[in-house]
Amino acid sequence: MKKLILPALCAIVALPSIASAQSKQMGILSRMNNNATGGEQAGDTAIAAMRDAALEGDTLAYSITEGLTTEIGPRLAGTEAEARARAWAVERLTSLGFSNVGIETYQMPTWVRGVETAEIVAPYPQSMHVTALGRSASTGDAGIQAEIAAFASVADLRAAPIGSLTGKIVYVSHNMERTQDGSGYGFAGPARWNAASLASERGAAGIVIRSVGTDNHRNPHTGGTNWAEGVSPIPAGALSNPDADNLERMVALGRPVTMHLTLTPQWLGDQESGNVIADIPGSDPDLPMVIAACHLDSWDLATGAFDDAAGCGIITAAAHRILESGAQPRRTIRLLWAGAEEVGLFGARAYAERHPAEEHAVAAESDFGADRIWRVEFNLPDSAAGDADRITRLLAPLGIPRSSIPATGGADTSPLVAGGVWAIDLQQDGTRYFDLHHTPDDTFDKVDPAQMRQNVAAWTVMLSVMSNSEADLGIPQMAE
Ligand SMILES: [Zn+2]
Repeated sequence: MKKLILPALCAIVALPSIASAQSKQMGILSRMNNNATGGEQAGDTAIAAMRDAALEGDTLAYSITEGLTTEIGPRLAGTEAEARARAWAVERLTSLGFSNVGIETYQMPTWVRGVETAEIVAPYPQSMHVTALGRSASTGDAGIQAEIAAFASVADLRAAPIGSLTGKIVYVSHNMERTQDGSGYGFAGPARWNAASLASERGAAGIVIRSVGTDNHRNPHTGGTNWAEGVSPIPAGALSNPDADNLERMVALGRPVTMHLTLTPQWLGDQESGNVIADIPGSDPDLPMVIAACHLDSWDLATGAFDDAAGCGIITAAAHRILESGAQPRRTIRLLWAGAEEVGLFGARAYAERHPAEEHAVAAESDFGADRIWRVEFNLPDSAAGDADRITRLLAPLGIPRSSIPATGGADTSPLVAGGVWAIDLQQDGTRYFDLHHTPDDTFDKVDPAQMRQNVAAWTVMLSVMSNSEADLGIPQMAE
């Protein structure tokens, strides 16, 4: 279950199920324990040296993260800031020596934040920290004032009869646990993804949710919410966790609680967004390529250091080590700095429409912060079992064991993986990720340079091995 949710870690839209791609591609997993160590191969020494150099001294990933967060800042999809980020990316990737650096644009509906305030009017007047969820409707400048109808969970809200919440401001709680693999997000996420639509269906005038996050700071977590087909959007916000605690205490005292909520986001219509791509051309241009993704856009409350400037820094620094080594890989390595991930994977879909899945051998993405990689997952054909064993062997000194969970490749390559492209996941430690995720606190100071270097070292190994893979990494024909 978890793997069907995790690929869209920050996006609001679940892409077509990857289950079909997985079910035909499980061959390697049955053999995974046969050769995790030993069997050193020619070239391992060179890759190990590149790995160790990254671990000891990489500065490029950190520098790219610093540059994007300092020189650009927040990069909300479809805005002028995201366009500046694309221009910055092209300049940086070109100056680093990558080939075919370019922007591929597309149009997308663009939502921007406005004023956001929440006040308890009675019986315990005080203000609360709130932020609008992406795709929220506006309250209008005057705001709305209504009694709170509180629910402990999305399931409880779902059980309320249609029409039973007319005119109310719904509040929905949840219990998100801190986990290394981020699985708490899959559990708590529906409070953000689905509760607003359910509240609208039941007649609510607006909704505030407990932030989907694991911190206890007064930082509300934004992120997109989804409106079911035919449901009218209503104003939808998230309270910081301490404010949610406070509201729950007020409700527990038993008197009706009235909130005044003002959220004035607006839709700007279709605006331009775009993907940035950059290649290291392989020596055999006929071979399907290795694609490494991150996303260039961020939410607007912070500079998006963890989500996902760091990912762009990590994949680019690793690829740059291969570029600088002077040993041309057999397969092209493509960097995809995707646009508009947070607001619905518009960049991912635009890329997949323009570049058929068949052009790609294997996909991977870095989009879970900047903390250390703690395990590796594969979804490769039997013919690439040796590559997986080799990666496992070369990652062992970094403290990265192999998992039996099939890889999914991440949100921005999910349309490719759904189309049959193989995948590898270098899973980052998510223990503190949801303290920062989509909050004003996702800033450059949170990046630990030592952990980031370990990421670059691991990506250098994976890209080195897979870009020289002699396996048949084409898309398998569907079995009849
Ligand atoms: Zn992200």
